[in-house]
Amino acid sequence: MRRAMASSSGVGSALRDVLDRMTAAAQRRPSDLPDLHPRLVAVSKTKPPDMVLEAYNCGQKHFGENYVQELEQKSRDTVLEKCQDIKWHFIGPLQSKKIPKVIGVPNLFVIETIDTEKLATKLNTAWGKLEKSDKLKIFVQVNTSKEENKSGCSPDQCGALVSHIISSCPNLKFGGLMTIGALGYDLSKGPNPDFQELIRCRKEICESLGLRLEEIELSMGMSNDFEHAIEVGSTNVRVGSTIFGARTYPTKKSVDCAETKDESQSTTDPLDKTQNDMEKLTVTLK
Ligand SMILES: *Cc1c(COP(=O)(O)O)cnc(C)c1O
Repeated sequence: MRRAMASSSGVGSALRDVLDRMTAAAQRRPSDLPDLHPRLVAVSKTKPPDMVLEAYNCGQKHFGENYVQELEQKSRDTVLEKCQDIKWHFIGPLQSKKIPKVIGVPNLFVIETIDTEKLATKLNTAWGKLEKSDKLKIFVQVNTSKEENKSGCSPDQCGALVSHIISSCPNLKFGGLMTIGALGYDLSKGPNPDFQELIRCRKEICESLGLRLEEIELSMGMSNDFEHAIEVGSTNVRVGSTIFGARTYPTKKSVDCAETKDESQSTTDPLDKTQNDMEKLTVTLK
């Protein structure tokens, strides 16, 4: 029901609304921040290819996915043959054994979730074997909220990881830092500390490695806080449910929360598990 609704009319107008809000937020940015127009990544995880196509036909080029399997299938879906110019962002946790699959995705634009030297090294080797002319763009994911169940390197380690990538991974192009951050932060309490932490990491990296702020993107901000993220300097916001509607998992009918949790354990990261549970709850309460 929800999906049918969004599919017939919602995606285009939701997309325009998000883009307008992004433009307005960018105008509120202090002038000392790099004047980069923020990029919208439409997060299409769990959503069918026809919704991706619909957004694409409205001019959206960048899409994000968190599951390698789903990204692989969607990127090769026949519907998407019509989207020659699509640009995929991989934004989920990446296991080493999935590297060959993810780098085989046509039109892969960036992997946003590199968080260990080991993963970077393996990715560097694998990309090298493909003998592409371009380097593979990657972002380093930082666990700014220091929650145990979150992916990302610790803020203390991110400088060393970036330095490793720049000096020892010639097939990778370090492009920025990414954070998810604690969910449900109350913005009335002031600037989101996760975003401030990512900004601090960038400053530190610039100083220690002699890079310019403009060279390091900040991937932060999702449906609930993308405007705030842009106001404080995000260059890449990842917005899913505000564009495509709440995520539901179509194969499961009316399962209770506990069951959902168990089933999704192996296929979802903690973020989506929490969000899924929250969304299930929302649906139940309605
Ligand atoms: C799902 C997801 C998003 C999008 O979340 P919404 O709240 O639906 O906008 C952004 N980033 C990552 C890493 C995600 O997994």
